[in-house]
Amino acid sequence: MTPESIVIAGAGLAGATAARTLRAEGYAGNITIAGTEPHPPYLRPPLSKEYLLGKAAEDAVEVVPKSWYADNNVTLRLGSPVVSVDSAAHTVRFADGTVQAYGALLLAPGATPRTLPLTGAELDGVSTFRTIDDSRRLREQLASGGRNVVLIGSGWIGMELAAAASTYGNQVTLLGLEDIPLAAAIGPELGSFFRSLHEENGVHFRLPASAKDITGHNGKVTGVVTDAGELLPADIVVVAVGVVPETSLASAAGLEIRNGILTDASLRTSAPDIFAAGDAANAMHPFTGEHHRSEHWSNALNGGKVAAKAMLGQDVALDMVPYFYTDQFDVSMEYSGFPSLAAKTAPVIRGSLERKEFVAFWQQDGRVVAGMNVNWPRSIKPSAQKTIKALITARSEVPAERLADGNVTFDQLMPEP
Ligand SMILES: Cc1cc2nc3c(=O)[nH]c(=O)nc-3n(C[C@H](O)[C@H](O)[C@H](O)COP(=O)(O)OP(=O)(O)OC[C@H]3O[C@@H](n4cnc5c(N)ncnc54)[C@H](O)[C@@H]3O)c2cc1C
Repeated sequence: MTPESIVIAGAGLAGATAARTLRAEGYAGNITIAGTEPHPPYLRPPLSKEYLLGKAAEDAVEVVPKSWYADNNVTLRLGSPVVSVDSAAHTVRFADGTVQAYGALLLAPGATPRTLPLTGAELDGVSTFRTIDDSRRLREQLASGGRNVVLIGSGWIGMELAAAASTYGNQVTLLGLEDIPLAAAIGPELGSFFRSLHEENGVHFRLPASAKDITGHNGKVTGVVTDAGELLPADIVVVAVGVVPETSLASAAGLEIRNGILTDASLRTSAPDIFAAGDAANAMHPFTGEHHRSEHWSNALNGGKVAAKAMLGQDVALDMVPYFYTDQFDVSMEYSGFPSLAAKTAPVIRGSLERKEFVAFWQQDGRVVAGMNVNWPRSIKPSAQKTIKALITARSEVPAERLADGNVTFDQLMPEP
């Protein structure tokens, strides 16, 4: 049965994509998108890259043009989060107290940056990084260069912010708990590749190291003290130590929570007519047979589409191979696959790390389970990403020597149709 009205809690990529898909599928009922932030849905990946560097215009980060919502009869309630859900009555309550009925409800509240319980965390100049307002503020702070920037956290966001801060001509020091940045995600060899890239560009590392204290003067940050007792001078400190899936609403409504809002492959939660998508959802993945929570753009995009179709009663599953990308200095990287399956295996490399042009494949029992390409020429067809995804999906065994051998074309690697 098609629901009479749909409420979407979360004005981000997953929520806006769901609304767009509902209209594209011909859904004519009421759609309300409620968001905590005062801005219409926007894309977060540029916030730590081209937008932070002043290379992307304001409209380049919109999920859809601002006029799309009114043109498509979609009600945007900005700055008006859903504060409670009554799953039995099929109603939501907004922050202003208004209660609204829903036929189907999509929870797409994203994730919240982790904070650290450090003395000085409240000082002026110390922040986390998630929103367009964070990006605008940081751009203002970084743009003139010559400042001391300390980044706490050596994950993707910390590394991207380090690249942007250094590109602006600031002194950048990054500290993290790992011996090698990004090693948990892509292993020591490729983590070291990113470390060298940053060091070539003047970024300093303290690894492994944790922040013990943040020092300040007259309410403004002056430095970060590491667990080794070193005082790193700082005008700007960004805490980038990961995110926590936003589950409070779902949890209060009695939905099943496990590392996010638990869903089946069609993004149905444990409550009737309530769906979840994006960073907050921990969805059953048909490929691995396990729940998988992804904090990446393509998961929110495709999750929004799948949730919309599932709300309309279509038989759909979020079965895409997980994908993400990053841009740091002169390196553009794309990754597809299942890091949980690839973890702890050494990658097979085609191309050259020195030349910063390569494809890395991870295998499990001879099958490709993940792959990433760095600065791989787009003119080569089929593309590295298309090849990696096809190999993963086909589950066919490929000798490591063939993956590494540049004389074997991607066409020749492609599984039989
Ligand atoms: C700086 C940055 C860089 C990134 N770079 C990359 C990248 O290069 N590649 C990549 O693949 N991914 C990247 N990501 C991740 C990607 O942006 C996220 O996976 C994606 O934004 C998740 O979309 P979402 O719709 O689930 O959540 P969000 O984009 O977080 O949107 C959810 C929205 O819902 C709001 N909300 C929360 N609770 C409620 C409520 N109760 N009611 C109403 N609204 C609520 C939130 O305030 C938020 O505005 C990056 C993320 C960040 C922060």
